[in-house]
Amino acid sequence: MATKLLLTFAICRLIVTVGLTLEPTELLHLGVDGQLSVHPSDLESASRDFGLLTRAEPLAVLHPSSALDVARLVRAAYGSDHGFTVSARGHGHSINGQAQTPNGVVVQMSGNGVGPRPRVRAGDMYVDVWGGELWIDVLKSTLEYGLAPKSWTDYLYLSVGGTLSNAGISGQAFNHGPQISNVHELDVVTGKGELMTCSEEQNSELFHAVLGGLGQFGIITRARISLEPAPQRVRWIRVLYSNFSAFTRDQEYLISLYGSQKFDYVEGFVIVDEGLINNWRSSFFSPRNPVKISSLGSNNGGVLYCLEVTKNYHESTAASVDQEVEALLKELNFIPNSVFTTDLPYVDFLDRVHKSELKLRSKGLWEVPHPWLNLFVPKSQIDDFNRGVFKGILGNKKTSGPILIYPMNKNKWDQRSSVVTPDEQVFYLVAFLRSALDNGEESQSLEYLSNQNRQILRFCDDDGIKVKQYLPHYTTQEEWRDHLGRKWDRFHRMKKKFDPRHILASGQQIFTPTFLGSSSRASR
Ligand code: FAD
Repeated sequence: MATKLLLTFAICRLIVTVGLTLEPTELLHLGVDGQLSVHPSDLESASRDFGLLTRAEPLAVLHPSSALDVARLVRAAYGSDHGFTVSARGHGHSINGQAQTPNGVVVQMSGNGVGPRPRVRAGDMYVDVWGGELWIDVLKSTLEYGLAPKSWTDYLYLSVGGTLSNAGISGQAFNHGPQISNVHELDVVTGKGELMTCSEEQNSELFHAVLGGLGQFGIITRARISLEPAPQRVRWIRVLYSNFSAFTRDQEYLISLYGSQKFDYVEGFVIVDEGLINNWRSSFFSPRNPVKISSLGSNNGGVLYCLEVTKNYHESTAASVDQEVEALLKELNFIPNSVFTTDLPYVDFLDRVHKSELKLRSKGLWEVPHPWLNLFVPKSQIDDFNRGVFKGILGNKKTSGPILIYPMNKNKWDQRSSVVTPDEQVFYLVAFLRSALDNGEESQSLEYLSNQNRQILRFCDDDGIKVKQYLPHYTTQEEWRDHLGRKWDRFHRMKKKFDPRHILASGQQIFTPTFLGSSSRASR
């Protein structure tokens, strides 16, 4: 009853709205069990994202109570005379407005009480989760059974649907592949409002298109995620390099290992200025005992590289961990005496970035603009990238956030998914995760960092470094065609088949909704 009253209130508000493509009565007949809201706080949060670079206000926000609600809304949009756009929003952690939709309806997939609780099938080693479930909650549910997903992101307050629409990567990807390689089955509401189950065996075209599909083909309402026995503890090690070739050689060696004699997680980061080594993501080094680059004997123009690895273990096998780690480290060529080790529960390791988030929030440094840039760089060109970017464009300049670098094996990525990676067996993620601050320091300003991002992309273009953007952001279809390369034709075909009116995820700016014409993109 309360829901009905709220809905009526919302619709009355909609009816007084004029000059919009959305016909309010279309929503009046939706009959959703969840809540359709035009409350200013809902509209405001759906207008923003983590990037804080772009803002677009929807007309309404749907808090669905089930996949059926999502299907009802999309069906209404598909059948509507006027047409209106629908964008799923997970936790809104995009950078460039990818989950926003001006004057459309945002489906708020994540949030308290939205969707069914995770259902773990311990015997079959999988969990069924709602598309808006946050990974932290997936972890908590599976740990009750001593199980956990295999492939992660560095940060767990992201939604399942949001990361599966991209790829979902972290230091486990070299071994298990990205998160999209660890999904058995999906329920998806297509752009026609049909609720379809898909997997390798059933509706496989839709399954592969949706994984890494940037929300273009359907809204993921359920994902079946593969599990493994959860480790109890993690030995977490960082070692430093001044020689880039030694660093990448060791990273590539570590991701080539298989069987049990290998690390479970391989990442790394670049330290272009003293501040970075003790930055928010490196809380590992004690703030009371900051690491000084100069004390490490770097004669490399100030640039250092930090390899980060972990070995997971069970308390019952704790006795052998030291030996295993020792044997693996013996093969590496890092700076002598630059080994930093810590040991912690598995959950604390996986949830490590949240600790940094809380610290930054307490200083007012979380809700600031984030002009992030994520690139996949082919292995054969990573030296050129180092020379031109880490030592060139960024070298010795103050920068305001971590720069991650780690390699992955392409054979762990299913080529049938929609995500694009470089044409080489090994490629690197290089992630510039910088925050813009309004503190009078030019090198930390949004304009400076955005210019630097453009400079990096231009350098790659000019030097023929065949990077692919991860979490891509483009504004013209020509750029998208170029980005998707050989995958464009299929991507386009799948769009025609599953979202012919271009209703879904218009914030990605790939396809213009058919009922809006070409002016829509320019208006963003
Ligand atoms: P949103 O921003 O809400 O949505 C992203 C896109 O997915 C939108 O186009 C939206 O329409 C679509 N979408 C959302 N939900 C669904 C759904 N259910 N079905 C279909 N489409 C949907 N990524 C990594 O891979 N590895 C990392 O380690 C990592 N770390 C991060 C750390 C931080 C602090 C942040 C802010 C981001 C990080 N990311 C990382 C990026 C992150 O994976 C993406 O930004 C992801 O899209 C965020 O998920 P979200 O739930 O907030 O998605």
